[in-house]
Amino acid sequence: MSIMKQYDVVIIGAGAAGLAAAAVAVERGRRVAMFEMGNVPARKVMASGGGRCNITNSAVAYNRYFGENPNFVRGAIARVKPDDILNWARAHKIKLVEKDAGRYFCANGAQDVVNALLRDAHGTDIFVKTTVTDINPHSGNFTVSTAHGDYLAQSVIIATGGVSFATLGVSDFGHKIAKKFGHKIIPVRPALCAIATNTFSPELAGISVNAQITVGKEKIKDSMLFTYFGIGGPAIYRATVRDQDNLIINIAPDVDVFECLRNAKTSDGRKTVAGILSGILPVRVAKWICPDTRHIADFRNDELSQIARRINNIFISRKDIKLHNLASAEVVRGGVDTSQISSKTMESKLCPGLFFVGEVLDVAGDLGGFNLHWAWASGRVAGQNA
Ligand SMILES: Cc1cc2nc3c(=O)[nH]c(=O)nc-3n(C[C@H](O)[C@H](O)[C@H](O)COP(=O)(O)OP(=O)(O)OC[C@H]3O[C@@H](n4cnc5c(N)ncnc54)[C@H](O)[C@@H]3O)c2cc1C
Repeated sequence: MSIMKQYDVVIIGAGAAGLAAAAVAVERGRRVAMFEMGNVPARKVMASGGGRCNITNSAVAYNRYFGENPNFVRGAIARVKPDDILNWARAHKIKLVEKDAGRYFCANGAQDVVNALLRDAHGTDIFVKTTVTDINPHSGNFTVSTAHGDYLAQSVIIATGGVSFATLGVSDFGHKIAKKFGHKIIPVRPALCAIATNTFSPELAGISVNAQITVGKEKIKDSMLFTYFGIGGPAIYRATVRDQDNLIINIAPDVDVFECLRNAKTSDGRKTVAGILSGILPVRVAKWICPDTRHIADFRNDELSQIARRINNIFISRKDIKLHNLASAEVVRGGVDTSQISSKTMESKLCPGLFFVGEVLDVAGDLGGFNLHWAWASGRVAGQNA
């Protein structure tokens, strides 16, 4: 097929990272085209943060990112900081609300963010409903093939995102192209997702508790939700984005439950164990943990210690952890190996002119705005260099 048009920069994917890249490239005076297979740009941004888009987090730092090489993010997050994103949002008159100290959401919804991204990218030729099917080297440039024709580009930015949450329209095209150009792909798995386990009962589904999850060397304190198939909620989501390890769950992290039960034997001896536990945990959880209706005074200390361990020290072995599917995971671990990408420019070290940004890379951020921050930061850096 003959070449339809020539651009300086072609961006594949009009998501968070692609749009951030387009804005900077256009500002530099580059002729930019962007191809998006969906009907509209930025579908994941629209769905993010429950529709209110958690755009960044003031705690952005390399240790909130996970992948084979977490240090990779340092270059981009040093150039694009949370304050840059907050100032950008304010300049676009996006009303922000801070939740949970440092998590910034859009008060009037994610559409404000998408509108601002599109305003910034003005001057980019955006082709929606246009899937890119192939990219090939072409005398120092690239041909970018779509169903509607081939385009020529000096630089190509792959911003095709992660492969989870397929209902929002996802593809593994970025991984395929990376492989084709000699890049290694770190195997993909769900992250920021629930866990299927039969450690708890489905009858607890819908109840939320404050929990502390120990995973590797980290202790995560956040809320945990019981589900029909296992456990979810922020604490579990955050655990799943970390390197997989045994989990130790404490569902009453501020209470030494054994101490509390032992004391209750003398102070409240005629109460049931569940009665005492319901001062610490939701009643249904307390009853599930100890359905035995004897008076607490009739329990031996070793029985109380065993009950306490089922609250303060719940062990789930790594091999029993089943991540609850790609379809519901907010992000993926894995993707294009970052050791073959320049952390200063996002350019491929194997193929000059080819850039990778956002979630297509082996970079997954913690829950709380870290993933969009990565998309903005890596996108802007590539837009500066492509
Ligand atoms: C439900 C949900 C809620 C989330 N909430 C938050 C949140 O509040 N805060 C946060 O920080 N992160 C959140 N995330 C994660 C965040 O949305 C993603 O990490 C981020 O959108 C990744 O940006 P990206 O540009 O790399 O990819 P995407 O935003 O996914 O964009 C990739 C784009 O590429 C297009 N594409 C793919 N292949 C092709 C092709 N061959 N041709 C043309 N186009 C193609 C896709 O259609 C898509 O539009 C959430 C994720 C989900 C699923």
